[in-house]
Amino acid sequence: MKFDTKVVHSTLHNRSIKSKTTPIYQTSAFSFSSLEELEGFYEGKSPYLYTRSGNPNTDELGAMTAALEDAPAGVAAASGLGAILAGILAVTETGGHIVAAEDIYGGTYHLLNEELKTFGITISFADFSNPEEIENSITPETKLLYSESITNPFLRVEDIKGMVAIARKHGIRTMIDNTFATPYLLNPYKEGVDIVAHSATKYIGGHSDVTAGVTTGSEELMEKARNKVINLGLNLSPHEAWLTVRGCKTLSLRMKQQCRNAEKLAEALDGYDGVKKVYYPKTASEKGNGAIVTIELSEERDIHRFFTGLDWVKIVPTLAGVETTVSYPQGTSHRALSEEARSKIGVNARVVRISVGIEDEEDIIKAFRDAVDSSK
Ligand SMILES: *Cc1c(COP(=O)(O)O)cnc(C)c1O
Repeated sequence: MKFDTKVVHSTLHNRSIKSKTTPIYQTSAFSFSSLEELEGFYEGKSPYLYTRSGNPNTDELGAMTAALEDAPAGVAAASGLGAILAGILAVTETGGHIVAAEDIYGGTYHLLNEELKTFGITISFADFSNPEEIENSITPETKLLYSESITNPFLRVEDIKGMVAIARKHGIRTMIDNTFATPYLLNPYKEGVDIVAHSATKYIGGHSDVTAGVTTGSEELMEKARNKVINLGLNLSPHEAWLTVRGCKTLSLRMKQQCRNAEKLAEALDGYDGVKKVYYPKTASEKGNGAIVTIELSEERDIHRFFTGLDWVKIVPTLAGVETTVSYPQGTSHRALSEEARSKIGVNARVVRISVGIEDEEDIIKAFRDAVDSSK
């Protein structure tokens, strides 16, 4: 072989190395040594052809999340929104109507309210804490009820059983974004929900170093979701999938510590001078109530001084990492909502969302009490 040939063919040919962890298949496509072998892909004998249509690392993340949700299948996507879009389109296909909870994540609200028009899908938003309002929003075109297991930022725990009962009565499907609860706390698929989606950017990945999503459900629906991921180009990169799987291995450990810290912080801020209200669920799951605590400062406190008074806690417009961080819903996640939509769900200039990390609980409590004190 001449150099110009060698330089491109001297990669490792031994593919049977038994590495302890899954290698990263950082490849855009897979190779074949005969036309028979290529034909074998189309006959289902080999699983991979081209990474946009399937890759061992993205499949590993889909399968891992499905296993954690006790769902038959899972499909990874480039982001939580990508996974949500793939899940929704798997159900709606050629259009239809969706009834969604009005207090969902801001990005999803925008996806549903604006972008889904392109696909001929119409939306109604309803107060999902009121079953009558859900039922009254259902039309003959309705195909899906959409909500989140624990909502953002006020942490309302969805009545999943009630939602599934309404959907079954009307012969329609249900979809839950389980990002805040994680499969550690809740498994909506086991409660009869058809599609359970995650922003794996959050707790599944857990380290704030990837943007990824996963949608899970029946083989039939996930086959459709997979086709949406392939054909709309919503696929996740192998390296991001690998990082997400690595992060997910410590999901239980992280959630245990983060839920405990969050509970202690919620207790410590409840009734604290300068804190008007603490939002923290009480009955989300037997294993805990999640790791997000939302607070509203009293009217006379200064929100700017509160944020600058936070010592080591950074302002970060995401959640779920191992570090405790704060975000400002009005300025970030709920910015896209109209003033009216925001005030209807209670987001105002004094609302702060805290993503509680794995640090020592006393340090976390001190940081927030000091910041509240400094907001005088
Ligand atoms: C972050 C988030 C999303 C969107 O996920 P991306 O990975 O940013 O696309 C959807 N739902 C919830 C509840 C989220 O927190």
